[in-house]
Order: sequence, then structure tokens, then C-alpha cells
Amino acid sequence: MRRAAPELPEVPRARAHAIQRRLLAWYDEHEQPFPWRTAHDPYAAMVAAVAAQQTQMSRVLEIYDRWMAAFPTVEALARADRAEVLRVWGRAGYPRRAANLQEAARICLEQHGGRLPRDREAILALPGVGPFTAAIIQTFGFGDDAAAVDTNIVRVVGRLVFGDLQPAKETPPASIVAMTERLLPRGESARWNPALMDYGARVCLPRPRCEECVVASLCAARPRFAAGETAEPVRAQGAWHGSDRMWRGRIMQVLRDLPASEDDRAPSTTVSAFMRRVQPGEERARVRALLDQLTREGLAWVDGIRCGLGSRPSSED
Ligand code: SF4
Repeated sequence: MRRAAPELPEVPRARAHAIQRRLLAWYDEHEQPFPWRTAHDPYAAMVAAVAAQQTQMSRVLEIYDRWMAAFPTVEALARADRAEVLRVWGRAGYPRRAANLQEAARICLEQHGGRLPRDREAILALPGVGPFTAAIIQTFGFGDDAAAVDTNIVRVVGRLVFGDLQPAKETPPASIVAMTERLLPRGESARWNPALMDYGARVCLPRPRCEECVVASLCAARPRFAAGETAEPVRAQGAWHGSDRMWRGRIMQVLRDLPASEDDRAPSTTVSAFMRRVQPGEERARVRALLDQLTREGLAWVDGIRCGLGSRPSSED
């Protein structure tokens, strides 16, 4: 059964234009010069968007620079050794993202002549690419119109138009996405998307700076904040210490740091030596299960006796 389109509040054209004009003017003064925003390179846009998933922008530039220096093109990434890809990703977290980037590059090389496809459905068919990443590729890579909706944009649009204090908790995401698409000024995606993102990161913060806001007079949430209501914080992720995430990170670190062997074969170790390096204590069975999980995800390999990072080297046969 098809879902009904979400009910959206009416935004008169004059108000929408005023919001667009003021936020774009703010962006012209406060633009952050991230290289992927002006590179007109779909591959660079994909790398940046994937790196930005679940990562603060302050760290994305560092990951992006390291990645582009190691794998400057789709072909370089597609042909790279998986272990090297994971080493370059390093401690950026959620390493499945690095593997997805490489699998996407391999598909682009095999099916799209070594380039990213321009068609939205074909972009969305790439591993690890959801609506946000696809929209970033369309916007910065191809100059096409698409609304890239991240958590900052949800907050800004949810407050401005829906009058929410904490939109992620108050309005269905589909409604905010539909409204963000409606507000998009045609032909201006490459300025509009980053304008909203940066506005959410610098002015319409979880605790908003309404007194310095250029759209305060147009904002549906402003009267509520002015009356002293406060935005209930969105609950942070669960505790990290002792979590699967912590152990997965530790396993990946040990595998990344394995010393190179003297006969030039890919670094590997015995599973028992690996366990000693991880120091799982009481969590032995859990760590072993997580190593198997990482193997299934293409991030590690185990052949019964030895283990290593990435895919099992064929020379080990
Ligand atoms: S007035 Fe306050 S809540 Fe509204 S958009 Fe500006 S900063 Fe955000």
C-alpha cells in the first residue's frame, strides 16, 4: 500500500523567498571553504559525504585529505588493496564505510566507465549511498538540484517552518525532508545545502543563538524559545565503554597495526597471538565472534589459524 504524502504547513511564496535570500546572504559571508564543495568532482563529493556520516565536520576534512591523497581517483580506489584502504581510513570509525567506498568505486569502474553515474537511481544503487550522500554527489559533483538533509538541516527546517524546538523528536522525518525539498531554490543547491548545514552548525544549534539569527522574524519556533521553552536534548548514543563498537574498534586497531613480515607478505598473525594483543579478558568469546563478524563484512580475514586485515591475500594460499 502506498503511503500518503505527509501533510505540510503552507509556506507563502514571499516568506519562502525571504528565508532563501537571507540564508544565502548569510552563507556568502560565512562560507566554509571545504574542498569538495567547489571541486565539481562527484568522486570527491562521495568521499566527503561518506566520511561525514556519523562524524563531526571538524574531523571530516582530515579524513578526506588523507583519503584523496592515497586514492585520488575512482580507479585508484577500485584497484587498491583492501587492507591498505582500511589502514588509510584508520581511526575514523565505522570502517564498513571505507569498504563500501571501495565497493562503490569498483562498480563505477566496471559499470560506469570509471566515473560516478549522474542518474539518481544509479547513484543510490551504489553500496553505502543513501539519500543524503546521493544528494551531495548530485549537488557538489554534478551541479544538479537535490536536497541533502542531515541532522543540522532537520533542526533548522523543523524549527523555521514547523515551529518545533527539537524537530528530530517532534516532526516525522518524511515531512521535514519533503519541506526541505520544497524550500530548495532551483539552481542554487550548491549554495543552499551547505548554507542550511552550516547555519545549523553555527547559529541554529541544539541551543539556538536566536538573538543573532538572520531569519528570526520568519521563524515559527522563535516565539517558543523567546517565551523560555527549551529544546530537550536528543539522547546521545549508548555508552561506548565495553560496547561492541569499542571492541570492534580495538580489533581493527590491532589488525591495522600488525607489523609487516620479512618475506614481504601481507601482515598477519595467528588467532591466538591476535587474542593476546587485543587482551579481551573475560570477553574472549565475544571478541572472537566480533572478529568473525568483521570477516563477513569484508574488513578482516581468518583462515582457521591466522588472521589479518581486509581480504585474505592470495599469496597466503
Ligand atoms: S530564530 Fe532561533 S530557532 Fe529559529 S532559526 Fe533562528 S536560531 Fe533557529
